[in-house]
Amino acid sequence: MATRDLKIPSQRHPEKAKRPDNAQPKKPAWIRVKAPVGEGYKDTHKIMREHKLTTVCEEAGCPNVGECWNQGHATMMIMGEVCTRACTFCNIATGKPPEDLDVFEPGRVAGAVKKLGLNHVVITSVDRDDIEDGGAEHFAQTIRAIRRQSPGTTIEILTPDFIRCDPKVLEVVVEARPDVFNHNLETVPGLYPEVRPGARYFHSLRLLQRVKELDPTMFTKSGIMVGLGEDRQSVMQVMEDMRAADIDFLTIGQYLQPTPKHHRIDRFVTPEEFAAYEKAAFGKGFLMVSATPLTRSSYHAGDDFAKLREARLAKMGHA
Ligand code: SF4
Repeated sequence: MATRDLKIPSQRHPEKAKRPDNAQPKKPAWIRVKAPVGEGYKDTHKIMREHKLTTVCEEAGCPNVGECWNQGHATMMIMGEVCTRACTFCNIATGKPPEDLDVFEPGRVAGAVKKLGLNHVVITSVDRDDIEDGGAEHFAQTIRAIRRQSPGTTIEILTPDFIRCDPKVLEVVVEARPDVFNHNLETVPGLYPEVRPGARYFHSLRLLQRVKELDPTMFTKSGIMVGLGEDRQSVMQVMEDMRAADIDFLTIGQYLQPTPKHHRIDRFVTPEEFAAYEKAAFGKGFLMVSATPLTRSSYHAGDDFAKLREARLAKMGHA
C-alpha cells in the first residue's frame, strides 16, 4: 500500500532544510483525534490509490483524516504533489514540479467522486506558478468532469491565488460554476512575510471579492489559522476585511506545526476563545462560521454547505 513520507523536510522542503528547529509543544487534550482506522477509512484509501489521486488530507498530515475518511470525505489535491510556493506553515512538498498537468486527472477525480457517492466534494490544488494560467483551466475541467458524472454533487473548490496570472484566468474558474469558491487568507496581514511569503494579503482578499462580482450567487469562503502569533485585534480586522469583500463563510482553526522546520506554534488557542471568535464572526454578518481547534477548510464541508444554503435562504426571507 502506498504511504506518504511526511517526516523528512530536507526532501519535501529543500528551502526549509537550513531553518533552525522549532520545538513542537505537546498538544493539549482538546487537540487529540481518533486514529485512522475503520472500514470506511480503508475504502477511501483504496479508491484514492486506484484512481491515482493525491489528497491534501495525507499531504498536509491533517489531524482529521480518521474521521473524514471513515465517511468517505477526502479532499483531492489536483495538479501534482509539488507546490511552487514555500509557505512556512504548510507540509505539502515544495520545489519545481517534475511534471506537466495530467490531462486525465479531471476524469479520474470525477470517477473517484462518483465511486465515493459524495453529496459534496472539496477539490484543492498545489500552487503552480510555473503554468501560465496557474491551473485555472484544469480546475474548470475538473469541475465540469464531476458535473458530468455526478450532477447531484455540490462542488467546493479551494484555489491558489493566481497572483502571477492574467486577472482574466479567474473568470475561467468562475464560469465553470463551482457551488463554493474558497481561497484561504491563512493568517493576519502582519504575519504574511513570515508565514506566506509568496502571497499578498490584499491580492487574496480582492480575488474573493472579484469572484462575488463575477457571480453574486456563488458562495465564497475563506479561512485563517490561529496560534501562529497573531493577536485578537488582527483577527477581528481580518473578519472586517472579509465582510467588506462580501465573503460568506469563515473558517478558523488551530495551526499545528508539521515538523520542527516549520513555523513555530505560538500557542494553543482555547476552545472558549474559538467560541468567542465564532460569536464575533456571526455578529459581523457571515452566513456561516466554523471556528474550533480542529476546523479545517474542508472539515464537515458538506454539512456546513447545507447550513450555508439555509442561512442564505433565511436571510432572503425564504425560510
Ligand atoms: S479536514 Fe479536510 S483535509 Fe482534513 S482529513 Fe478532513 S477532508 Fe481531509
